[in-house]
Amino acid sequence: MGRKFFVGGNWKCNGTISEVKKIVTILNEAEVPSEDVVEVVVSPPFVFLSYVKSLLRSDFQVAAQNCWVRRGGAFTGEISAEMLVNLGIPWVIIGHSERRQILNESNEFVGEKVGYALSQGLKVIACVGETLEQRESGTTVTVVATQINAIADKVSSWENIVLAYEPVWAIGTGKVATPAQAQEVHFELRKWLQGNVGAEVAASTRIIYGGSVNGANCKELSTQPDVDGFLVGGASLKPEFIDIIKSAT
Ligand code: PEP
Repeated sequence: MGRKFFVGGNWKCNGTISEVKKIVTILNEAEVPSEDVVEVVVSPPFVFLSYVKSLLRSDFQVAAQNCWVRRGGAFTGEISAEMLVNLGIPWVIIGHSERRQILNESNEFVGEKVGYALSQGLKVIACVGETLEQRESGTTVTVVATQINAIADKVSSWENIVLAYEPVWAIGTGKVATPAQAQEVHFELRKWLQGNVGAEVAASTRIIYGGSVNGANCKELSTQPDVDGFLVGGASLKPEFIDIIKSAT
């Protein structure tokens, strides 16, 4: 089964109304491959979601950067999956390493969030990835397998999941994984899906790479057989995001 190239832009905790307007204008004016070739999803902070959705070209979609783990209620400061659905937000990023590392989200918590978000009708960009220490101690594959296992435990269908491999040491550091390093882990993740979920899911699930992707390194990464797109942080706030989208072809 063909896997459509996927490019996500994670704006993180950045932007003012005027900056957001500028980025959206750049996106809206860009000539990019058609929706049949590449799926583009940008993820502004919660407060700008509706604003961006209202301005953004119709062939691009929006994602939230997080959501609460279960039904909303007395959870001050949280945003529920139901609210995102109510606003017409189709996607959510879950398990980003900044949330795992800084906000101590465990594998199990991330798995529960993914399961709940899917149950409410959201599509999920689920992130996994090892730290530098884990890579250097040779445990990369075990770490990402444990992370994906916690997600698989809570998921009955993989149809609405894009899996993002984001090595922590590559995020925001300028130290991109080599195409061979990315391919190696993507291959292992697909193999894990094949062995633990099924051949069809393994063949159809998009596995995207994130970590210091930019306009200069995206093309080579995109040629790797198991790299089905990118999750982009810093460069998604710059015009070079367009070049990254174009690496789909
Ligand atoms: C990210 O935050 O998901 C990310 C990949 O960041 P950067 O591209 O800046 O490394």
